[in-house]
Amino acid sequence: MNDSMTRRKLFQILSAAGLGPAFASRVVADESEHKAKKKPEIQPIAVEDKPRYPAFIRDGKVIQPERPLPVFQETDVLVVGGGAAGWAAAVSAARAGAQTMIVERYGCFGGLWTGGIVLVVISTHAMENGQMTQVVRGVGGELLDRHAKFDNAIVNRGETKFNPTTDPEATMFIMDEMIQEAKVKTLFHCWATDVIMDGGAVRGVVFDSKAGRQAILAKVVIDTTGDGDIFAAAGAEHVQRLHAIGLVHRLGNVDRADQAALKKAGIKSLGAIEPQPSVRWVNLRGPSANGLDINELTRLQFEHRLKIWNQVQKQRKTPGGDKLFLLQTAPQLGVRTTRLLAGVHQLTYQEMREAKKFNDVVAVGGAQNAKTPGWPIPYGALLPKKLDGLLTAGRSFSMDDKLIEDGRLIGSCLTTGHAAGAAAAVAVKDGCKLRDVSIPKVQKLLREQGAYLG
Ligand SMILES: Cc1cc2nc3c(=O)[nH]c(=O)nc-3n(C[C@H](O)[C@H](O)[C@H](O)COP(=O)(O)OP(=O)(O)OC[C@H]3O[C@@H](n4cnc5c(N)ncnc54)[C@H](O)[C@@H]3O)c2cc1C
Repeated sequence: MNDSMTRRKLFQILSAAGLGPAFASRVVADESEHKAKKKPEIQPIAVEDKPRYPAFIRDGKVIQPERPLPVFQETDVLVVGGGAAGWAAAVSAARAGAQTMIVERYGCFGGLWTGGIVLVVISTHAMENGQMTQVVRGVGGELLDRHAKFDNAIVNRGETKFNPTTDPEATMFIMDEMIQEAKVKTLFHCWATDVIMDGGAVRGVVFDSKAGRQAILAKVVIDTTGDGDIFAAAGAEHVQRLHAIGLVHRLGNVDRADQAALKKAGIKSLGAIEPQPSVRWVNLRGPSANGLDINELTRLQFEHRLKIWNQVQKQRKTPGGDKLFLLQTAPQLGVRTTRLLAGVHQLTYQEMREAKKFNDVVAVGGAQNAKTPGWPIPYGALLPKKLDGLLTAGRSFSMDDKLIEDGRLIGSCLTTGHAAGAAAAVAVKDGCKLRDVSIPKVQKLLREQGAYLG
């Protein structure tokens, strides 16, 4: 930013227009202002003298010594993983009055939706009683609605439209806004690595961060890591699947490309539309691989980035494509499916096709093309068979293999997340186990929070 329009000046103008608070609660001076004011940025701070418990080698084995862990906080509901599902769970639980925390390994909410640049929210609608009906309502529906306040933040949203595409920065901004309004205590840049058990129940998690290893104690834990990290660590029954692992990228200057010339040269598509007319997002399916294998993940990260780079270079050298550029490869690799909970009820593709009704319905999945009926999702699909103190939601809920392509879509992640958050809040309020929670109370709360249950 040059001297004639510093960030501070920009915020002053925005504040005068009443838009300041939406953009910054604290104005941070930019580089040029720091130099001008000669204010020292680099200051000494005391080095903390913490007890250390380094691992050591004994008899050729690496041993981790026993050690006490500082308890960062105790809370009613702890959500681990801030993707579409975890974010919705946290907002719902907090709005219902539960003291709620969320721990996320990266620096933003949205998971694959924003960090994986998967921008089209599929399965927002279904055909109910001959009418195209929005099934992603409640906190997820409100999140989509709030995009409409901003220019170029959402497309394909409206009375007769379904499966909107959102701008990732707008989505992250609104997710921040709603989570802060709900007063959810958030910890970014923290990776949950283990569970704290009390008999057969989860009582919290151990997490790692730049501040070292610490614990959070909770009455209820919701595992929305997508990969079931927490229910696996707690020993809940589950299965694991390989699936295609890809990497999404974004192409810039698409509006300045000569698409007719590119088509003539054999480049038929530049990707899928985004709210920003100059940008397209480009999906890459990738090979079937193990999303929990760090060697595989590293290999695919290298391979996909190389492939994308070469592809864009080729496009740039094609007549009509010289203005195109690689705007971004997604910060998160596109892992579709890994662990799936073995829940009290495993929802099947057949049940989805029949739109089977369940007494414990807590969400309704949408149809990819909005032309078939919505499919009820029972609470039992979020609840482990035996493990207490934990629910899951999003792409790891209990489903058979054929249902994965529908169950993992962002729409279902938003609604199952909402359901898990509401159930957790009711269990905490009533002081009961998650498997004994009053389903009518959960359904009532969900409806009060705007959810669609059929
Ligand atoms: C390439 C690709 C294309 C897709 N295309 C579409 C599409 O077009 N439309 C559609 O609707 N869906 C699509 N999907 C599916 C959809 O994007 C995901 O299934 C959905 O976003 C998953 O949401 P989630 O909240 O369940 O999990 P995730 O988005 O995976 O979120 C999990 C969150 O938990 C965090 N986390 C993980 N482990 C830990 C830990 N141990 N501690 C702390 N935090 C942790 C992660 O950082 C992440 O933020 C696609 C998926 C992929 C990979």
